[in-house]
Amino acid sequence: MPSETIPNPGTLYVVATPIGNLADITYRAVEVLGAVQLIAAEDTRHSARLLQRYGIGTPCMALHEHNERAQLERLIGRLKRGDSIALISDAGTPLISDPGYLLVREAREQGLGVVPVPGPSAFLAALSVSGLPTNRFCFEGFLPPRDGARRSRLEALRDEERTLVFYESPRRIGATLRQMSEVFGAGRPAVITRELTKSFETIHGDALENLCRWMEQDSNRSRGEFVLLVAGAAKRPAGAGLDAHAKRVAQILAAELPSRQAAELAAKITGERKNLLYEHIVAPERRS
Ligand code: SAM
Repeated sequence: MPSETIPNPGTLYVVATPIGNLADITYRAVEVLGAVQLIAAEDTRHSARLLQRYGIGTPCMALHEHNERAQLERLIGRLKRGDSIALISDAGTPLISDPGYLLVREAREQGLGVVPVPGPSAFLAALSVSGLPTNRFCFEGFLPPRDGARRSRLEALRDEERTLVFYESPRRIGATLRQMSEVFGAGRPAVITRELTKSFETIHGDALENLCRWMEQDSNRSRGEFVLLVAGAAKRPAGAGLDAHAKRVAQILAAELPSRQAAELAAKITGERKNLLYEHIVAPERRS
């Protein structure tokens, strides 16, 4: 048991809860949830199952993306009067692709105590079993739902060398994998993790193109909750030329702008060196 007094008055506890298996909760989380004056839960009906399982009778109120702003004053007021509040979401760690940012920011700005009670998060569970490099990674959360915006986001990530981690819904998993294969390349290694800690837990890794086919072979494979992990882009050796994307950006801009300005803008967009882009614009055949 921790030596601190739980709960500290006027403190907001940000409490992680299970991502599926209800046993995945810390002793401290159960203790805090049972001791605070109020639990602010993303969906009170959803959390009732967890609270019931652990015999927690603390009053709950709903705090979700549609009412977070409206409830802010009330919650901050209670904290200021000395009540302690636990913030939980439907699954995993609050604020990780979940509500709570406004409340945490405001509580900290007002000098109130904000204390983490760490535990599960789907992206960490997925990363820990993916077999992809974990020393540096890039958590992207949900991609934009619309095709065009999603493609642009993926294009911006094409040369990212860190392992990429995405959340995805069953409705879009097939389309997203297909687009990833087109943008990152069919052979880029990736791992699909599905329904982690639940009955139909699946962890399957392969090249993106093979993963698309694997997904299409059985409609049950696109059911449930997903974390998608994609290997980072291979490091290009020093002195290597521009990739096709950078060349295309440079050419499009050069058609509209003076060469130097086009190279400058292309460098900002692609992250490539300005002088390489400039040389490609003025003498494309020499630099291809
Ligand atoms: N706050 C949560 C966390 O810490 O992971 C994430 C909340 S976000 C609204 C929900 C998304 O997380 C799902 O759409 C899915 O991408 C991912 N997710 C949550 N639970 C999962 C599980 N058991 N297995 C795989 N992915 C999961």
